[in-house]
Amino acid sequence: MLCRAVAVELEVSPEVSRLLYSVESAYLGIVREVVEYAVANNVLSATQLQGLFYSKYRREYPDLHAHLIIQAIRQASEIAKSFLRRKRKGLVGKPYPEVRSVSIRFTEKAWSYEQFIHSIAPVRLAISPISTGKRGRGSRRFEVWLRPHRRFWQYWWRVLRGEAELASTLIIKRRTNKWYAIFIFEIKPREEEPKSIVAFDINENNVAVGRIDIVATIDKIASWNRQYLTPELYMIRTDFGKLARRYKRIRNTIIERLKPGFALPSGKYVNVTNTREFRKRVKHLRESGRKVGRVRHVASELTKNPSIIITEELGEKPQDEMISDLESRGLRHRIKQTPFKALEKAVEDKALERGSKLFHVSSYRNSRVCPIHFTKLEKTDDWHILKCPFGHYVDRDHASVMNMTWKLTPEAWTKGVWWDLRREINWREYEGRSNPLVPHEIVKHIHAVLKTFKASEESPAVLARGKPMNPTGEADEGGGEETTQKRRRPEGG
Ligand SMILES: [Zn+2]
Repeated sequence: MLCRAVAVELEVSPEVSRLLYSVESAYLGIVREVVEYAVANNVLSATQLQGLFYSKYRREYPDLHAHLIIQAIRQASEIAKSFLRRKRKGLVGKPYPEVRSVSIRFTEKAWSYEQFIHSIAPVRLAISPISTGKRGRGSRRFEVWLRPHRRFWQYWWRVLRGEAELASTLIIKRRTNKWYAIFIFEIKPREEEPKSIVAFDINENNVAVGRIDIVATIDKIASWNRQYLTPELYMIRTDFGKLARRYKRIRNTIIERLKPGFALPSGKYVNVTNTREFRKRVKHLRESGRKVGRVRHVASELTKNPSIIITEELGEKPQDEMISDLESRGLRHRIKQTPFKALEKAVEDKALERGSKLFHVSSYRNSRVCPIHFTKLEKTDDWHILKCPFGHYVDRDHASVMNMTWKLTPEAWTKGVWWDLRREINWREYEGRSNPLVPHEIVKHIHAVLKTFKASEESPAVLARGKPMNPTGEADEGGGEETTQKRRRPEGG
C-alpha cells in the first residue's frame, strides 16, 4: 500500500495548546524510558513491552488516555528496533537512541475518525487525549479547527472518489510552537495500460532518459514515420555533484569564519565541525531539502504517464561500489552525495501511484556497446563520447539507456552485449525468454522500435549529435574520471 502523509496546521485555543504540551511531555517521557529499557535488555516486542510497562504508566499518568499510553509504548518498540538494526549495520555510534521529539499517535478510539471520514469537507476534528473513566477509557473531547491547504484537499478529493483512504491513526506533532495534524492517506495503486517505455540512468549531474511512445508507435509504424519510431533521448539535469561542490565551498567558508573563535592557546584549532555554532549554520543551508526537491522532480517527470520503466539494478550501496577505485577525493565526496537509492525509491513510489511498472536490468556493459551495431565502443578524448567501429559517435549516457531497453527484448539474449563471448551458449534455451514480467506485446514493440532505430544508421544524430550534449559543461574535469556506475563492472568478456 502506498502512503502519503499530509500535515495540516491546527488552530488550537491556549487551553488546548497547554493540554497538548503536557500530553506531549508525558508521551515523550514514556517513549524515552521504554526505548532505553528495550535497547538495554533487548526486549523489542511491542506486546512484551506493553505487558511490562502499561500498568506502571497508567498509575503514573492517570489522566492520559489509555490508547496514548499503548501507542507511546509501540512507538518506543519501533524506535528501539530501528536503532538496533542500524547499529548492527554499523551506522550508529551511540549506545542508546536519543529521542528528542515525538509525534503523538491517536488511534481511531482517541479522535473523531468516524465523524471525520463521513464529512464531505472536514475542517475540524476532535481529540480525546484525557481519560476520565477508571480504566482510562472514558474521555473528554477537545475540538480543534484545521487550516487545510491545497494538498490536503487534493488527497481528500481522492478519498471522496474512492481512490484513497484515510488511515485511522492521526498523528499530532509540534513544530516550535505550532501544532500540526498529520493525516496518512493510503492510495490505491492504479491499474493502467502502459503508454510508453522509459529507461533511465542516474549519473552524477543528470539523469539520462530514453522514452518510446507505445501509442504513437502503434499508430505510426504502418506509415513509417521515423519521427515517432526513434526513441526520444534526453537528460534531466539534477546537478547533485555541482550542488555538493557548492555546499562544500560554503561549509569551508563557515569553518574559516568560525575558526578564530575556537583557537586554542597552543595556536591549534578545535575541530569546528563538532561545534554547535557550525551545526546551526549548516542547518540553515537546507542542502538535503534541495536535493529532495530535485529527486521529486525527476520522479515526477519519469512517471508522468503510465509506463514500463527500466533501470539498472543498483547494489546495496551504489556509491561505495562506484568509488572503490576512484582516486580523487573531491569526486569521491560528490558521488557520495548523489542520492541514487533515494531517486530510485522515489521513482518506484510514484510509478506505483501512477500505474507504471518498474523493471531492473543488469548494468553489464550498458555503456560499452553500440546500441545500433552491438559492437564494442572505443574511447575518445571526450569522456562522454564513444566511437563505434562503424564510424559514428555515441553519447555514453544515451548508449546506456538504449542498451537497457534492449535488455528487455529477445535480441538481448542472443546478441545483446555479448560481442566476444568465448563460452558456447545454447541460445535455443533462451528463445522467447526475454524478461517474463514484461508483457509480450510490449517486448515486440520495443524490439520493433529498436530495430528501426538500428536501420536508421544514416542518421544516428539522435544518439551522438554534431556537438555532443554535455549537460553541465564541466563534467570532464579531473582528467576523464568515470562517474557513472559502469566503472564498477569488471572488464572481462
Ligand atoms: Zn554503431
